[in-house]
Amino acid sequence: MREIAATSRDVIVIGAGISGLTAAWRLKQAGVDVCVLESEHEVGGAMRTERRDGFLLEKGPFNVIVRDGAFEQLLKDLGDEIEVIEASRSAAQARYVLHDDRLCKVPSNPLDLVTTPLLTLGGKARLVRGLVASRRPSSDDESIDNATRRRFGPEVADRLVSALCVGIFAAESRELSLSACLPSAAEIDTQSRSPLGFMIARRFRQRRNAKTSRRWRGLVSFRQGLGELPKILAAQLGQALFTSCRALSIRKVIRGYEISCSIEGGTGPTFRTDQLVLAVPKSATATVLGDVAPEICEQIKAIPSSGLIVLNLGFERRHVGHPLDGYGFLVPATSASFPLLGVLWADSVFEHHAPPKHRLLRVFMGGSRRPDMVTMSDKELVDIACTALRDLLGLTSEPVLIDVCRWPDAIPQYRPGHVQRVAQINQQLQHYPGLHLIGNYLDGISINDCVRTASRAASEIARHIQATKQSHQHQETNDHCPATRQAIAATSSSS
Ligand SMILES: Cc1cc2nc3c(=O)[nH]c(=O)nc-3n(C[C@H](O)[C@H](O)[C@H](O)COP(=O)(O)OP(=O)(O)OC[C@H]3O[C@@H](n4cnc5c(N)ncnc54)[C@H](O)[C@@H]3O)c2cc1C
Repeated sequence: MREIAATSRDVIVIGAGISGLTAAWRLKQAGVDVCVLESEHEVGGAMRTERRDGFLLEKGPFNVIVRDGAFEQLLKDLGDEIEVIEASRSAAQARYVLHDDRLCKVPSNPLDLVTTPLLTLGGKARLVRGLVASRRPSSDDESIDNATRRRFGPEVADRLVSALCVGIFAAESRELSLSACLPSAAEIDTQSRSPLGFMIARRFRQRRNAKTSRRWRGLVSFRQGLGELPKILAAQLGQALFTSCRALSIRKVIRGYEISCSIEGGTGPTFRTDQLVLAVPKSATATVLGDVAPEICEQIKAIPSSGLIVLNLGFERRHVGHPLDGYGFLVPATSASFPLLGVLWADSVFEHHAPPKHRLLRVFMGGSRRPDMVTMSDKELVDIACTALRDLLGLTSEPVLIDVCRWPDAIPQYRPGHVQRVAQINQQLQHYPGLHLIGNYLDGISINDCVRTASRAASEIARHIQATKQSHQHQETNDHCPATRQAIAATSSSS
């Protein structure tokens, strides 16, 4: 363990996942004296990639949807340091759901909609009506399921949107808040015009902006996998990063915070800072912050999360009968007896994820639908997955590569009331000057969301530090004035 020269910093960030690393990297760029404390030996948190036998295995997240400026700006600022890979467009556009024991393509254009067996004629008519007719939305913070039923009818809710929710949140649509989980859909829902008109107008606006400023669109990853991004940020933080350094508890002191740490499991130093950024998962936040802000911790503990298992299964190409011509498939609530949540066809999206002559399936299990699965053995999980996929994907042999990754506390669930809860947390935080909470349990779970929140926090902190320094300088100048005056007076009386 390298020696820690200074334990007092202008800003301390706890947690070196994408949230903490982005915040620290941005602060360092702004010339702020910052350091990061990370409990694990490796950085990246959920963003972990492993190379094995020619396969590129994403153990946590698989790709990033570039939605807004902060993530794109981060990539631009890293320049040649990182090679961004865009997902295959044809694969990204062909998505399937399991319906009546077979895979059905999700309609992505009007012709698809007419011909799809996914919806009955009545279900299609209801969908079209919901797209063109304006409805008064309910004023409640509705669940995604309620809002979809209200606007598009039960078939779209059960057969399509429930699948989307297990795919993104590993949870059921009836458990999730529309305004917290899908804020842009909530925005469309509250518009008085037809959603179709709104979406077309927005698409035009986005296209116009894209021509001028957007470099990447849609789904991206990196040549070395998603784990490359945290590694690059960590390398650029250099001596400002302390790994194997776990924050145990936090204490409020005059104008700041003290953080007691352990290093590689043994006793560690106590750090001191005015500006503390907590960028750890919600359970860790509630643990370390318990003595300082118990009322905030109670709110954080009340946010549930679902566990998730990611299985990477590699097969010889000749042993997979299905062409895997798309992004993969998800399992809606109507097929909930199927034991998987969904399967991504990894090398169809990013070709370099499997060696030639091989295919890579990325299987999701567990979630709030099957929480019991997180405790199953690797063998049980692999057996369940292979049995479920044998006929569906035409598998004729066992996998040549198996990787099982369990995430017991994977995805925070934003239930109805989440937006109000976060507003309360933000209000309570005002009693703790210099304390900042970032991470996926507050304002968006995606990597893009985490980068946006972290970048915003970093620029607020940098601005605050700058303003404080300026006001100190101003103060010092004022303080010097009387002394200077006295000195002048003394010199003139002696002469
Ligand atoms: C299986 C899975 C699949 C996902 N798929 C996608 C996807 O495809 N696309 C997407 O955009 N998002 C996806 N997500 C969500 C996204 O990956 C996460 O929301 C995001 O990476 C969280 O980043 P974070 O930095 O906030 O937290 P984390 O990644 O959890 O990082 C927190 C860090 O804090 C450290 N830490 C914890 N306690 C302490 C302590 N006491 N002291 C010091 N350090 C501590 C941890 O070791 C960790 O490094 C997925 C998530 C999971 C789990």
